[in-house]
Amino acid sequence: MSDITDRDIMYLPGVGPKRAELLKKELQIFTYKDLLYYFPYKYIDRTRFYRIAELTNSMPYVQVKGTITRFETIGERNKQRLVARFADESGAMELIWFQGIKWVRENLKINTPYVVFGKPTSFGGQMNIVHPELEPAEGQSTVTGIFQAFYNTTEACKKKFMTSKVINKLQWTLAQFLQDQVSEPLPDYFIKRLKIMPLDLALRQVHFPENPTLLKAARFRLKFEELFFIQLKILSLKHKREEYFKGFVFSKVGYNLNTFYKNHLPFELTEAQKKVIREIRRDTGSGRQMNRLLQGDVGSGKTLVALMTALIAFDNGYQACLMAPTEILASQHFNTIQKMTAGLGIETALLTGSTKAKERTIIHEKLESGKLQLLMGTHALIESTVQFHKLGLVIIDEQHRFGVAQRAKLWKKNTLIPPHILVMTATPIPRTLAMTVYGDLDVSVIDELPPGRKPIQTIHFYENRKKQLYEFIREQVNRGRQVYIVYPLISESEKLDLKNLEDGYELMKEVFPRYAISMVHGRMKAADKEAEMRLFKEGKTQIMMATTVIEVGVDVPNASVMVIESAERFGLSQLHQLRGRVGRGAEQSYCVLMSSFKLSQESRKRIETMVRTNDGFEIAEVDMKLRGPGDIEGTQQSGIGFNLKLANLAKDGEILQHARNIARDVLDHDPLFEKPENALLKQQLLGMKNTEYDWSNIS
Ligand code: ADP
Ligand code: MG
Repeated sequence: MSDITDRDIMYLPGVGPKRAELLKKELQIFTYKDLLYYFPYKYIDRTRFYRIAELTNSMPYVQVKGTITRFETIGERNKQRLVARFADESGAMELIWFQGIKWVRENLKINTPYVVFGKPTSFGGQMNIVHPELEPAEGQSTVTGIFQAFYNTTEACKKKFMTSKVINKLQWTLAQFLQDQVSEPLPDYFIKRLKIMPLDLALRQVHFPENPTLLKAARFRLKFEELFFIQLKILSLKHKREEYFKGFVFSKVGYNLNTFYKNHLPFELTEAQKKVIREIRRDTGSGRQMNRLLQGDVGSGKTLVALMTALIAFDNGYQACLMAPTEILASQHFNTIQKMTAGLGIETALLTGSTKAKERTIIHEKLESGKLQLLMGTHALIESTVQFHKLGLVIIDEQHRFGVAQRAKLWKKNTLIPPHILVMTATPIPRTLAMTVYGDLDVSVIDELPPGRKPIQTIHFYENRKKQLYEFIREQVNRGRQVYIVYPLISESEKLDLKNLEDGYELMKEVFPRYAISMVHGRMKAADKEAEMRLFKEGKTQIMMATTVIEVGVDVPNASVMVIESAERFGLSQLHQLRGRVGRGAEQSYCVLMSSFKLSQESRKRIETMVRTNDGFEIAEVDMKLRGPGDIEGTQQSGIGFNLKLANLAKDGEILQHARNIARDVLDHDPLFEKPENALLKQQLLGMKNTEYDWSNIS
């Protein structure tokens, strides 16, 4: 169907071929529609002028009328800046340019009234605006509406005078041209029932708001639509998958699970673990393919759940595989699981990048014959040479390290019926994000730690308290405990980072001459890493110094102290992951965050959050608010969260929940969009690109 809004942007009056090229290349605006959906990033109340005397640091953006009284160029040749004195009747301030000095000097006039826009800051008791926007105070009537919309542009755009203002004008032209020709993608009954603004009005208000109330309603409508169609897509794919794709039926609970449960389980399962296993049993017995995300904070006992799920698969004659993101983790799983299942008679193997060719061949053979029941390993598992006899279950640990495409490869190891999938993550994902990124998975949560664990105490030390830190380490080691000391990746160069760690290592050897100290970093050979980890795990070394390679999953219950050097350099979820390495035994554990005195507001907030709470979900929420959803691990590869134009997963949780509920409601009543009133929805859905959302769809 062709739509007037699909027209090439070149044909919009005021654009033409040259500007069209710029819009396409720099702003990805190809059509009328792209321009229409190129939303402002902020609005300024253009009726409000400030006096210079009123300006304060905390004002986000102001508009001031006045005149330039003089110019002055300051600094060395290469580091020049241009300073203009700008005055009104209440006082004076400075306007500062570091770039485009020549243009400013040639184009701006002294003693002529200007309107200046910008963010005021105070420096040495003087207010100034760096790189302000200026326009002549006379004839300043191009503004439409009370609020002026501001649009992002690039440097290249600005050079060719494609400024925010020009875009604003183009939006105006387009709005006049389109009038009532924007087609409404939401059915009538929706608009009425949900009391939302129709699209054409919303688009007009978002670019040319008449007042704050209308602007708010317009933004709500546009965000809702954006989130609604994503949810509708995800949920309808899920629905289809559940309808059409059969899954292996694990109907039996037999020898393996029963024997393990009776004779091998070293402890009582937590209620949360029991609940999750019940959910998994229900899924795998249903005849539909399981696609389940298991979220559980570090140390909550996910490995055991994974193992018990695998045992169910064996009881029903299927093979399983467990994939981990690092060799250390994979071999740890291998060792733990071998120990736990000793005597059960289960055939397991470990396959990683460093598995020798000869062993590899044996593994391949045993896999294909079906003799091997559980294969554990790293990315090596997804190589195409790895073929299973009857793969019934795929478990992926620490999910966020794997890309979507890698996951899909495992999905496809069976051609006819896909294996059941259990994805485990210790990085709690905020609910809003999970609903979108993993929206088509069912989610289980282990929200309870095994009993007897004492909450980890987290302490923040500035670097001048090294002495106390050493005392503390000594006291803990003398009590028989072990200590991690982790160094961040600071510089771009791995060499320098390594040097940081090595210097630290030398220093610690001097401070603690009688302790045995291990060191692990990313540049070591897998086997050497392994050997060092083993020494620490077996209690032969007391201190483990490492870069973040130990971040994920490593389990040494006797370790009770986690020292994180330069803690201000770590992200929140990473800090939380690292802290999760301790607190696994019955002893009181500690996390010491070392930092310099200079902390940015954000790193202060991160450290405060760590000291305040152990709750991974709470930390994830703070993290998402600080960084925005696009940066949360796991979302990068998904492509979702980035393409959102207006909605923000960190801030618009409520709208998202609302949109998801409505989408589910539609699907419950009309899963195939057969009702005439849903024809519009069907049409929209068909028009959406599949690529971003259909990775879980096996074919
Ligand atoms: P994670 O969820 O971080 O992968 P693990 O599976 O490594 O956690 O479990 C952390 C520790 O808790 C392990 O030492 C494990 O043996 C132990 N554990 C697991 N479940 C229980 C339980 N129900 N009771 C006591 N300890 C448990
Ligand atoms: Mg784990």
